[in-house]
Amino acid sequence: MIIAERKPLEEIKNMIAGYKRILVVGCGTCVTICWAGGEKEVGILSSQLRLASSKEGNELSIQEAVVERQCEKEMVEELRDRVKEVEAVLSLGCGAGVQTVADIFEDKPVFPALNTAFIGMPEGEGLWTEMCGACGDCFLDRTGGICPIVRCAKGLLNGPCGGTRKGGKCEIDPEKDCAWVLIYRRLEKQGRLELMRRYYEAKNYRAVKRPGKVQAVQA
Ligand code: SF4
Ligand code: SF4
Repeated sequence: MIIAERKPLEEIKNMIAGYKRILVVGCGTCVTICWAGGEKEVGILSSQLRLASSKEGNELSIQEAVVERQCEKEMVEELRDRVKEVEAVLSLGCGAGVQTVADIFEDKPVFPALNTAFIGMPEGEGLWTEMCGACGDCFLDRTGGICPIVRCAKGLLNGPCGGTRKGGKCEIDPEKDCAWVLIYRRLEKQGRLELMRRYYEAKNYRAVKRPGKVQAVQA
């Protein structure tokens, strides 16, 4: 899922300075799960903005809304009447959500309240780890399902780098496991260690077209 975290309040206040009627919009999917942009976070940010503005003698009208998936145009359309009533929208969606809202309501400024960080998975209470950099050419079949592009500090396609610490820790960050040690152990368990002896050409990221587009074909 997509992991994001909220921007500092001061940065958000600076973005919306000059607008009096604002709709704060959350998203009910990834950013709800990672505690960044769901109903609760919409409520918290709205209260903080109201409080800050009233302290500064600058009354803001803050409306709150949450759509199920902010990256889906049909769902964002549901906000049309509410967006008409405001001067600006503050989105607690990921980057795709913010841009969807901005595309649908082109005549209104739409501001991002979150920093979209990565595609990851939960590792513990309130902790998410990056798992995929959306490189467009997945390599996991050769690495036992462990992505060296994001999990190796150097993004090496042929590892380990030679600096791995005792206990299989990364030379860059001793708190983290060396991704290539993890890959080795996984492949060993699967009886596929011959994959470690192969050489993989550097990826040609220029061959990955941006913006990406996928046309799925229904089975
Ligand atoms: S190789 Fe890594 S970054 Fe690329 S698609 Fe697979 S998991 Fe994502
Ligand atoms: S120690 Fe392992 S994870 Fe760290 S940079 Fe070297 S190969 Fe990558």
